Amino acid sequence: MTGKVILVGAGPGDPGLLTVKGRRALESADVVVYDRLVGPEVRALIPAAAKAIDVGKEASRHLIPQDQINEILLREAHEGHTVVRLKGGDPFVFGRGGEELEALARGGIAFEVVPGVTSAIAAAAYGGIPVTHREHSSSFHIITGRARKGQDPKINYPALVQGGGTLVFLMSVSAAPKIVQGLLDAGMPPDTPAAMVENGTLPSQRRCDAVLGTLLQKAEEMQIHSPALIVVGEVCALGPLLCWTEKLPLHGKRVLVSRPKNRAGTLSDRLRDLGADVWEFPCIETVPIDPCPQMEAALRDLHNYQWLAFTSAAGVELFWNCLRKLGRDTRYLSGVQLAAIGPATAKALENCGLAADLVPDTYDAFHLGAALAEQASGKVLLLRAEEASPALPEQLALKQIVFDDIPVYRTNYGCPQSDELRNALGEKRLDFVTFTSASTVKGFIAAAGLDAGFSGITGLCIGEQTAAEAKRHNIPVRIAKAATIDALVELAAQL
Ligand code: SAH
Repeated sequence: MTGKVILVGAGPGDPGLLTVKGRRALESADVVVYDRLVGPEVRALIPAAAKAIDVGKEASRHLIPQDQINEILLREAHEGHTVVRLKGGDPFVFGRGGEELEALARGGIAFEVVPGVTSAIAAAAYGGIPVTHREHSSSFHIITGRARKGQDPKINYPALVQGGGTLVFLMSVSAAPKIVQGLLDAGMPPDTPAAMVENGTLPSQRRCDAVLGTLLQKAEEMQIHSPALIVVGEVCALGPLLCWTEKLPLHGKRVLVSRPKNRAGTLSDRLRDLGADVWEFPCIETVPIDPCPQMEAALRDLHNYQWLAFTSAAGVELFWNCLRKLGRDTRYLSGVQLAAIGPATAKALENCGLAADLVPDTYDAFHLGAALAEQASGKVLLLRAEEASPALPEQLALKQIVFDDIPVYRTNYGCPQSDELRNALGEKRLDFVTFTSASTVKGFIAAAGLDAGFSGITGLCIGEQTAAEAKRHNIPVRIAKAATIDALVELAAQL
């Protein structure tokens, strides 16, 4: 059966600006054909199983000519695939989406379109510039600075100037001198507010504020490069007041998130929301002990235990998988009390339909041990990492509580050394590193090398134990108020 093509707008770069429908299309794709302007974090959402074809275009020439791109789309769809054609911004705003659909229509291939958030509006918005405003502008025009085969586009400057609306020029960095001259020649006052936004909506976004008469000089001073757009009109004067992205607490800061990939999600997203340039660099890996006969045996005899205690969401997930493998469900746990080290672990229990009976006030192994020792009279089962903290069993032993401590996963922090990380540290291009456990510190040190200089960074640590490990390597640290992701994010926001 013949497949189909879904033409999807990827938005201007911020992965949050990919539409819900666009994301669903991406998840359903067998093949993804994408352009250079699709942001790296949107590209990261391409399913691992999908074939990704880069048809990225360079500024002055096409790496792959348009007719060849059309051929790729036709061929992949004829082979029966669901093909997502992913384009920066909106596919019909100077994106050649129309041309590609014409080729598909002629080739008898079914297609759908998922519009995207165009950079013309979004990059301006992230630069604090509303394209319309009741007091300043009642229309806006999106104009290309480049025409077919590098020719000059035929822009009717007098009409644009007479219209009086906001003007947004795309593909305009190299054409900027001609655009400015064209507007001045058509009678636009040189003191008309104007701006350029480079890498709009991305952490590397920069904004150049000017008036028409000074725009070229300022852009030159700031070395503004493509992708960038020019905005001209009164609304640009609002930029300094409304540029909310530059006021975000972590604007301009580069933060390395060292958690394992499957758990980095929320932390990274929340740091991005604070304006950070997040670098996901997993320094540890949790490896389940599988099969785990000790856990299976303990679960078969679960009724021998009064308490079941967890120190991580990973532990809960492995326990639950094992329980299901034994053909059991929540009913089997009646009579057993459940303890969780903190809210994230309690939440993992909740996801299995289980409520934690105990969460200590301070979310660490010592306090969990102390609280359990207070409450337990019968036997306790600990399902934790192989190298977990001795503080928990020590507290139980102090009160003569009987327990089984079963390792259900091990943490691999033998990260290979990374030149990219060493260079970033050497050139002081990294501001913060989040450490959510002592093992993430160990993994980070392995990746950076013991001899790397750490004085330029601050380690944002989830707790005392983690901070102690970081300090051993002379990493300056700040410690979250509580051992939660919320508190870690709050700490980052205050810096
Ligand atoms: N279809 C795209 C535009 C494609 S033309 C859209 O709707 O956004 C490419 C031009 O778009 C670039 O030369 C630049 O002018 C602009 N552009 C794309 N992404 C941008 C970004 N993140 N910041 C600023 N300008 C961007």
